Amino acid sequence: METRTSAALFARAQRLIPGGVNSPVRAFGSVGGTPRFIARARGARLWDADGNEYLDAVGSWGPMILGHAHPRVLAAVEAALQGGTSFGAPTEREVRLAERVLERYPGCERVRFVNSGTEATMSALRVARGATGRDVIVKFAGNYHGHADALLVAAGSGAMTTGVPSSAGVPKSTAETTLVARYNDLPSVRALFEARPRDIAAVILEPVVGNMGVVVPTPEFLAGLRALTREYGALLIVDEVMTGFRLARGGAVERFGLDADLVCWGKVIGGGLPVGAYGGPAHLMDHVSPLGKVYQAGTLSGNPLAMAAGIATLEVIDETPDLYEVLEARTAQLEQGLRRAAQDAGVPVTLNRVGSMLTVFFTDEPVVDFESASRTDTAAFGRWFHHLLARGVYWPASAFEAAFLSYAHTEADIQAMVAAAREAFFALAEH
Ligand code: PMP
Repeated sequence: METRTSAALFARAQRLIPGGVNSPVRAFGSVGGTPRFIARARGARLWDADGNEYLDAVGSWGPMILGHAHPRVLAAVEAALQGGTSFGAPTEREVRLAERVLERYPGCERVRFVNSGTEATMSALRVARGATGRDVIVKFAGNYHGHADALLVAAGSGAMTTGVPSSAGVPKSTAETTLVARYNDLPSVRALFEARPRDIAAVILEPVVGNMGVVVPTPEFLAGLRALTREYGALLIVDEVMTGFRLARGGAVERFGLDADLVCWGKVIGGGLPVGAYGGPAHLMDHVSPLGKVYQAGTLSGNPLAMAAGIATLEVIDETPDLYEVLEARTAQLEQGLRRAAQDAGVPVTLNRVGSMLTVFFTDEPVVDFESASRTDTAAFGRWFHHLLARGVYWPASAFEAAFLSYAHTEADIQAMVAAAREAFFALAEH
């Protein structure tokens, strides 16, 4: 596969941008090789700067649930564009997107739009702290909630991939307000509450983890978190940045019947443009400025192009009654195909999947938390990844990320992915 143009761009980029990328996992650091510079995308396909075509299993890490360059999303953005790109004043589109979001989450009465998932979780934490008057938060090892200081402790995603789950540059005093529990391990949460019964403002979690690879919560874990937070007067913050609008119309909250205090969104909510949001009941969200004393703002928040892309995406979801069924069926088809291919090649793997999120872990044990994810064979993953890439499948370049499918992936696309993956497993088994 010709990669000369990507390689030249990467060399130029590395002289200008740290690591040549604007988000770490894009640099292929843990898998090696030349990151592909993407020139364009449509439906389930990407084309790189050298003209190579790929079937995309990354979906921009989640937003592209309808596939790339969906005509309705493009038309909505183009229409918004003609009216001007930013006013710093309220617009009708913000109201329309708020209606579409809140209607899906009956527990939420108010939503505030921001520009990224990071801002969403950072702001939700501030609301939790402001509303409870407490400073400490509990998060789970291997969960990633963006790069706000308080949340870059034992973080998943790129932080885990690069082997530094806790970032340099986070003040010790901030990190000390973040307590880390074990995913799917209620006693580890209870122990923290027992040690600090009146200090914990909130527990924040990924309701299905995507950021140490896909890890599925047990129903007892989810129910227990709700009971524990209630018992100790702490809030439960559900980070739906990956899962919102993806696992169901109303995300993981709907799919698992969760009772969240605050919910954070990102990715799908902006249809590929920069949008995040956080929401909850009025009595909590009314702490947010200008009504309350929790300050949060944004020059570009509610940006007309971003709102237009989000509205169009949610509209198309609503007009596509079989969307979640098709996503489920296609991703199940991929899961089964991958499992069979790995078995035939004699490569031990654990496949974790919920809806259209899936991870192939190179291990023969179940993956249920950070420790078990960390014990998987990342070198084998890296080789498999490159065998796939060479065969035209663009898989997430990290052993600790989720693959995301879109409604644009056809049965034939999945067959082609599975065929490539089968060859990749056999190639792996030979070396
Ligand atoms: N929360 C979760 C669960 C995420 O997966 C991510 C990003 N992958 C974030 C928060 C941060 O979102 P962003 O990258 O838009 O800041």
